[in-house]
Amino acid sequence: MSKRYDTIVVGAGPAGLTAALYTGRSKLNAVVIERGLPGGELLNTKDIEDYPGFEHVGGMELAELMTKHAQKFGTEFVTDVVTAIRRNPGASDPFERWIVECESGGVYLAPTVIFTAGGTANKLGVPGEVELAGRGVSYCAICDGAFFQDEVIAVVGGGDAAVEEGEFLTRYGKRVYLIHRRAAFRAQKVIQERALRNPKIEVIWNTVVKAIEGDGTGVKRLILQGTRRPDGEYDFEGVGPTRELAVTGIFVFVGFSPNVHLIKEHADHDAVGYLLTDNRMETSLEGLFAAGDVRSQLVRQITTAVGDATTAVMAAEKEITELRERVSGVAGERVT
Ligand SMILES: Cc1cc2nc3c(=O)[nH]c(=O)nc-3n(C[C@H](O)[C@H](O)[C@H](O)COP(=O)(O)OP(=O)(O)OC[C@H]3O[C@@H](n4cnc5c(N)ncnc54)[C@H](O)[C@@H]3O)c2cc1C
Repeated sequence: MSKRYDTIVVGAGPAGLTAALYTGRSKLNAVVIERGLPGGELLNTKDIEDYPGFEHVGGMELAELMTKHAQKFGTEFVTDVVTAIRRNPGASDPFERWIVECESGGVYLAPTVIFTAGGTANKLGVPGEVELAGRGVSYCAICDGAFFQDEVIAVVGGGDAAVEEGEFLTRYGKRVYLIHRRAAFRAQKVIQERALRNPKIEVIWNTVVKAIEGDGTGVKRLILQGTRRPDGEYDFEGVGPTRELAVTGIFVFVGFSPNVHLIKEHADHDAVGYLLTDNRMETSLEGLFAAGDVRSQLVRQITTAVGDATTAVMAAEKEITELRERVSGVAGERVT
C-alpha cells in the first residue's frame, strides 16, 4: 500500500537531517527514508573541526545531535533502502507525481522529493584500507588534513582531485608523496604545474599501493609495487618487487560516485554525474530537489550540505503551496 506525503526526503546524512528539521518546523507532512543509522558520512568521521559553533566535535556525536534536533520537530523517520525514485506515469493528481520505492516493498507518493543520498568515495580495495579508515586513511583532505601536521603523507590518484588536494596537504604535511599508477597525471595542466613546483611534493610514478600497514595508533607504512611490465605495457595489479614507504597518512582520490542511480529518470548532471540544480536546489525535473554531496558544486562539506537542504525545503514548500493554490483555483473555476 502506498502512503502520501508533501515531501519525501531520501537519506539522513547532514543534508537529510537538516531537511527533516525544516520540514518539521514548516509543518510539512514529510518522511525521511534512511537505509542505516542517521548521520551519513558523519558516522565515518572521527573528528570535525570546521563546523561552525563546534571547535571540535566527534562525527558520531554531531550525528546524534543533528538527529535529536531533527526528530524534535516531528518529521517521520523510516528505516529502509530506497530502490527507485521515479515520476508517477499515470498520476492525474499532481500531489502523487513522484513515487519512491523501497526494498521492503514500501511505496511513497508526494509532489516533491528532496534527494540527499550522498555519494561513495571509490576505494583502493587493498588490505588495511578498511581497518585503518579514520586512523590515517582518509578520503577528504579539507576534513582531515589538519590532523597530519608535520607528518609524511601519501596521496593516491592522478586526476584533478588527487593533485589539487595533494598540493593543499602541503600546508600540513612536511612531505607529500603523490602516488600515481601511470607516467603522467590526468589533472589539468595548471593544477599539475602548481603541484610539481611545490618543494614538499614528490611524485612516485608508475606505482600502485598494494597494502596499508599500521597498528592501533594508525598508519605506519604503505607497500608499493611498480606497474610497468618489461614490455612497457601497464599492469595495474603490480609487477616486480614490492617496497615500503613510511607514511602516517594516506589520502585516496580515485573517484567519488554520487548515488544518482536511484533516480530512474533523466535528470541533468555534470560530466561526473553530480546533479545540476538551480539556485533553489531543484533539478531539471520539477519537484525533484537535490541537496548535499549529490549536487554538482565546488566543495562538499557538512556546511554546504546543511545550506543546500535548508534552501531545498523552503523551495519545496513554496512549490507545494503554489500547487495547492493552482489546484484549488482550478477546482474553484469549475464550481462557478
Ligand atoms: C572520511 C570523511 C571525513 C569527512 N570530514 C569532514 C569534516 O571534517 N568536515 C566537513 O565539513 N565535511 C567532512 N566530510 C564531508 C561530509 O561528511 C559530507 O560532505 C556530508 O556528510 C554530506 O552530507 P550528505 O547528507 O549530502 O550525504 P551523506 O553524509 O553521504 O549522507 C547520505 C545518506 O543517504 C543514505 N542513503 C544513501 N543511499 C540510500 C538509499 N538507497 N536508501 C536510503 N538511504 C540512502 C546514506 O546511508 C547516508 O546516511 C567528510 C567526509 C568523509 C568521507
